[in-house]
Amino acid sequence: MVTPAPAIATRQVPFFNYPALFEQDRTKLTQIFLDVCGRGAYIMQRDLKEFEAALAAFTGARHAIGVADGTNAILLGLRALELPAGSEVIMASHTYVATANAAYFAGLVPVPVDCGPDHMIDPASIREAITPRTRVIMPTQLNGRCADMDAIRAIANEHKLIVAEDAAQALGARFNGTHAGLFGAFGTISFYPAKVLGCFGDGGAVLTNDDKIAAYVRMAADHGRNEDGEFVMWGTNSRLDNLQAAILNHKLASYGDVMKRRRWIAARYDALLKGLPELQLPPAPDSDSRHFDIYQNYEIEADRRDALKNYLKDQGIGSIIQWAGQPLHRIKALGLSRSLPKTDRMFERCLMIPIHVAMSDADVDHVANSIRSFYGH
Ligand SMILES: *Cc1c(COP(=O)(O)O)cnc(C)c1O
Repeated sequence: MVTPAPAIATRQVPFFNYPALFEQDRTKLTQIFLDVCGRGAYIMQRDLKEFEAALAAFTGARHAIGVADGTNAILLGLRALELPAGSEVIMASHTYVATANAAYFAGLVPVPVDCGPDHMIDPASIREAITPRTRVIMPTQLNGRCADMDAIRAIANEHKLIVAEDAAQALGARFNGTHAGLFGAFGTISFYPAKVLGCFGDGGAVLTNDDKIAAYVRMAADHGRNEDGEFVMWGTNSRLDNLQAAILNHKLASYGDVMKRRRWIAARYDALLKGLPELQLPPAPDSDSRHFDIYQNYEIEADRRDALKNYLKDQGIGSIIQWAGQPLHRIKALGLSRSLPKTDRMFERCLMIPIHVAMSDADVDHVANSIRSFYGH
């Protein structure tokens, strides 16, 4: 029996496609699983060591420490700074709740500030938020792009503040040649499955050039145990699973191709959507020589955003409003409410359209052409 073709063949472009990503590399991924399990190598085994070394080499970090997830990476990094309780951490309101949660659980106070036209933390807004209790500026390297780290480091130097980055979305992104995560005391990466380097569950890492921070994070993530197995400080369990590390190490080897493909898709979107008066697009690849963007997300601003989202859905295209539309200062339960008009305005217009390596060229064109046709172009 031949299945009849559907009356209307609709191209489906889901926002993300986990099964397709697995299928692309099923044989090798299965082999890694069988190898690791066959060795019974689950916790703190050689695959973790190898991945940490590869990650350090890739980013140029002196230390890369695998931890349980990107949130714990921030939490442990902040605790390593040994700041007075109640110290304030300035961060963009346009970040995942994890940035604020980690600061809170480290005994610190998250202070959300506005974002600029590039959706990154706004240096002017950072300045306005500095108080005598401010200790840390924590930019989120959002959507696979670095914030203006020259401006941020200048403010930090002027006010003697520590810079630490939530680089969960930005592994491989660079600003003036420096990798995301290496601009301050430490930076953190997430390997959540939808991240550009994603594992099969939760995973994260702390990057740092500081030996003391590295030693603290390494021990704190393993119950305060030193290399000799002695318990030498308070700690918790925040280890990166060896199986996840093995998967990540394999994926890191082809990460260059993944970044290249995402940048290609971003350039294609830019070519097809540039000049539409209803849209603001993220900066195109190489449009600013200081930035090397890896496009974790392609976040546009759009007139009639909600109608566009529904229209795309009818065309089989998934899209997402980041953080379910709630920047930090709009999450009532956290009590971080303050006036951030630029972020509020942005959240009336922002939308992320699909960008991932399971998309074909035709999928990319379908998304862009659907957006054009929504606006009658
Ligand atoms: C994904 C993400 C995190 C948290 O990472 P998890 O690994 O899910 O804990 C933190 N901050 C930002 C900006 C993220 O996108």
